[in-house]
Amino acid sequence: MENCRAAYRLLNRSSRNLLDRRTNSKFFNSVRSSNSGVTYNFTQTSELFKDDVPYHKEIVSTRICSRGYDNGILASLPRNQGNGFRIHFRNLASTASTPARNHSFCMINSDDISYFKKILGEKGVVQEEEKLDDANTDWMRKYKGSSKLMLQPKSTQEVSQILEYCNSRCLAVVPQGGNTGLVGGSVPVFDEVIINVSSMNNILSFDKVSGILVCEAGCILENLISFLDNEGFIMPLDLGAKGSCQIGGNVSTNAGGLRLIRYGSLHGSVLGLEAVLANGTVLDMLGTLRKDNTGYDLKHLFIGSEGSLGVVTKVSILTPPKLSSVNLAFLACEDYNGCQKLLLEAKRKLGEILSAFEFLDISAMDLVLKHLDGLRDPLPSSKHNFYILIETTGSTESHDKEKLEAFLLQSIESGLLTDGVLAQDINQASAFWRIREGVPEALMKAGAVYKYDLSLPPEKMYDLVLEMRGRLGSVANVVAYGHLGDGNLHLNISTPQ
Ligand SMILES: Cc1cc2nc3c(=O)[nH]c(=O)nc-3n(C[C@H](O)[C@H](O)[C@H](O)COP(=O)(O)OP(=O)(O)OC[C@H]3O[C@@H](n4cnc5c(N)ncnc54)[C@H](O)[C@@H]3O)c2cc1C
Repeated sequence: MENCRAAYRLLNRSSRNLLDRRTNSKFFNSVRSSNSGVTYNFTQTSELFKDDVPYHKEIVSTRICSRGYDNGILASLPRNQGNGFRIHFRNLASTASTPARNHSFCMINSDDISYFKKILGEKGVVQEEEKLDDANTDWMRKYKGSSKLMLQPKSTQEVSQILEYCNSRCLAVVPQGGNTGLVGGSVPVFDEVIINVSSMNNILSFDKVSGILVCEAGCILENLISFLDNEGFIMPLDLGAKGSCQIGGNVSTNAGGLRLIRYGSLHGSVLGLEAVLANGTVLDMLGTLRKDNTGYDLKHLFIGSEGSLGVVTKVSILTPPKLSSVNLAFLACEDYNGCQKLLLEAKRKLGEILSAFEFLDISAMDLVLKHLDGLRDPLPSSKHNFYILIETTGSTESHDKEKLEAFLLQSIESGLLTDGVLAQDINQASAFWRIREGVPEALMKAGAVYKYDLSLPPEKMYDLVLEMRGRLGSVANVVAYGHLGDGNLHLNISTPQ
């Protein structure tokens, strides 16, 4: 009976054109946390040691630090790279430990400041405490550096001059985009010079026939989305941090997001890059050809390299045309097995129009409803173990709607779905997306959180969540959500303190 009621509700609520459902940006600008306190958890530093690189002396003074996931051991693993470099990894399991600063790197002095002011002007050299405090602190307010200097270049040439100088002076640097990364890679570990490319935010060209956009690395993702919207195109990636994150940061983290299931990863859609190496050399890989079989495709090394190979300054990216019919369903499933079967069925039955398949579990849903203002449970009649968002994007509204409704009806009749609702308009669709995209913000408001971003075969994905719940018991709230269609789980261990 409940199944029939849900089916009736789904079919009775007409889905309208939701094309612009998330351009209502007031919900989606990323918000900085007001939590305070600094912890150094799961720290990994990668350092290039000058002593180890006799043949490559000229490019080693820029140290790129990145924090990543801990592998649970306290270890120091020198790894010879076979080219004169030795990369030193330290994995620290203790929450209290921090790596020691490498004193072969210099501290900035007044001559350095004068030089940077000469090439960037006063505005490009940031020393104000308040601005530095923001730049030194990550989005989660979990990692904090102590940089005394942030540089804001306006061109590739300026980035090159900065890096060449830092290299010659043995000053460590850290590239920074929108500072929305969740693993602390965008903030200094110590007093590295922050190179923030937010002033490099020009769109350089857009070819309407091929859909190829060329822009500077500091363009904010949401601005690119708006620009393309006016041109009748969309970005091939979309994520909750779009109001702040930059395309250079997206490329450097190989960001996935909500559209990966449809448009694939950035390794597919990024056609070219320009990047500046640590010694100031500009690498021009800014191709705009969809098929380019000439030579090595070095840009792939930079996609996902977290700034460890250089600073990305320009990006060329293939953008898909905006399609006129978008539908969004908010659905309930009682077990994880059912979610997987639903995914398989969605791929089979919705085929080319499936554009997102996202999930959150009951803990994530509870957290969002508790901590984010103005959100309502779209399925208030009862609680469910899993919630799924399915989005379709196509070109023929009647065809797409018919396909989606038939799929949902069948899924309800077969018992895969226990409840569901189709968004009736843009506002409702925005509210549904707000639930899914608001989980990181709700987690921050709930207290301290350990975040894990895991790619796993979908059939094994939720075992990990159950295992963690079993191990932690009532000590912490284990919250899971993510991109089920991509096998990407966001596992979060949340505690009030
Ligand atoms: C609410 C929220 C939702 C999110 N959702 C997703 C999601 O769905 N999928 C996903 O993959 N991530 C997600 N993220 C994580 C984050 O937003 C992405 O990783 C984003 O791509 C980071 O971009 P950024 O400009 O903020 O980079 P930053 O955080 O500034 O930097 C990230 C890393 O890239 C390096 N970097 C930045 N710019 C450059 C550059 N120009 N050249 C070289 N290196 C550079 C930095 O050194 C650092 O290592 C989310 C984050 C938040 C807060």
